[in-house]
Amino acid sequence: MENRLRFYNTLTRKVETFIPNEDGKVAMYTCGPTVYHYAHIGNLRSYIAEDLLEKTLRYIGYDVKRVMNITDVGHLSSDADTGEDKMLKGAKREHKTVMEIAKFYTDAFFSDCAKLNIKTPDVVEPATNCIPEFIHMVQTLLEKGYAYEQGGNIYFDTSRLEDYYVLSNQSEQELLVGVREDVDADANKRNKSDFVLWFTKSKFDAQELKWESPWGLGYPGWHIECSCISMKHLGEYMDIHCGGVDNIFPHHTNEIAQSESYLGHKWCNYWFHIHHLVDKSGKMSKSRGEFLTVSLLESKGYDPVVYRMFCLQSHYRKPLEFSYEVLDNMTAAYEKLVKRVGALKREGQVEGEKFDAYKKRFEDALCDDLNSSMALTVLYDMLKEDMSDATKYALAEDFDRVLSLNLTTAYQARTADAQVDEELERYILSRIEERRDAKKAKDFARADAIRAELLERGIVLEDTREGVKWKKV
Ligand code: AMP
Ligand code: ZN
Repeated sequence: MENRLRFYNTLTRKVETFIPNEDGKVAMYTCGPTVYHYAHIGNLRSYIAEDLLEKTLRYIGYDVKRVMNITDVGHLSSDADTGEDKMLKGAKREHKTVMEIAKFYTDAFFSDCAKLNIKTPDVVEPATNCIPEFIHMVQTLLEKGYAYEQGGNIYFDTSRLEDYYVLSNQSEQELLVGVREDVDADANKRNKSDFVLWFTKSKFDAQELKWESPWGLGYPGWHIECSCISMKHLGEYMDIHCGGVDNIFPHHTNEIAQSESYLGHKWCNYWFHIHHLVDKSGKMSKSRGEFLTVSLLESKGYDPVVYRMFCLQSHYRKPLEFSYEVLDNMTAAYEKLVKRVGALKREGQVEGEKFDAYKKRFEDALCDDLNSSMALTVLYDMLKEDMSDATKYALAEDFDRVLSLNLTTAYQARTADAQVDEELERYILSRIEERRDAKKAKDFARADAIRAELLERGIVLEDTREGVKWKKV
């Protein structure tokens, strides 16, 4: 098939035409969440952009197999192998076991994804499912001389590689400064950039989950997870590997180092990275300031899909600043948009030529380095165009295969909700009147029965000086 999607490849530092290893097929891997806490909406920006990439690939005709790991062990507080295990920290915080924490936050992650219309990858694999695969890779790296044992841990020897920094154009010096910030140097490492493949000794011996290995009871490093899990499901050659820009170094750099040393050949051709969502302070944090989650947005009355639209309005290669003000504007724009689509009449003829022309414009926007804001402009232009409602409706439905903004269903759902609310209110008011009459007739048993019946439906009555009021519990 014709390859027309272009996007920025971090490996070559260029926008390139994407050509998969196998014609028409895409092997895609996404670094999954570390399930020690809720995902913040910054994390979810990355997953929205990856979902956009996957859906674009499918939209233009590729057969995609997408794999994602769940990090439930080995990710330490600092990406550079120091600090406490994030999962253990989460377990302590909530007085639960690591596996309980992992289950709870994995479910929470997929529930957030569903609200944002992010498709679940074809394969989702928790790291703790793959311990034998990790041990096998570490053993092979030791045998091939790419790894060494020191102080009870197994390290990857980065000095064995000619170009360890293949993925980032920063100098070695700059990268190391970044890493050093929160690191107490590990005296076991032969080179500063070496990283842990398998721990049996760490400063945090309270590690809850440990497994037998040829090097003693221990647990895997974080980076090895993604190499093994992707190879387990996608084989030795991968087309696209994704993550947020913070993953470029050290995580993805280390993944390439160990995978290619293990395989003895090039592993992944395209690296897709998403820039960060930041708040006013310039950072997004799970521990400081307001912890921005999908549930928080919902509790403030925002539709999560509006956040998706906010992300699609920006380009994945630009940092994006979050503010409630912008989200308010986006809500207004979204409500107008879905009302407009909702008002289209579906009956009638779809004008084939116009349909094709707009579909092409939409595809062109996406194929131009995933220009999602341009794709939205095509949607707006299309709605203004002089053509039949049926054509517009068909196009909106078609574009929504990628945009996933509930374009054709949101308005109906809102009107249906409003209808239900109106009906309920009419019913409650009639019951309140009946109760008042019952009280007047001194039929208190009946008055109480009405109150109880409403309570069962989640409605509480309050007798106030201004009369009877009701609210939902
Ligand atoms: P983690 O759960 O910490 O492993 O992160 C999950 C994903 O979110 C990774 O792909 C990170 O690169 C990405 N990520 C972390 N912080 C942000 C942010 N502020 N904006 C966008 N993506 C982020
Ligand atoms: Zn990863």
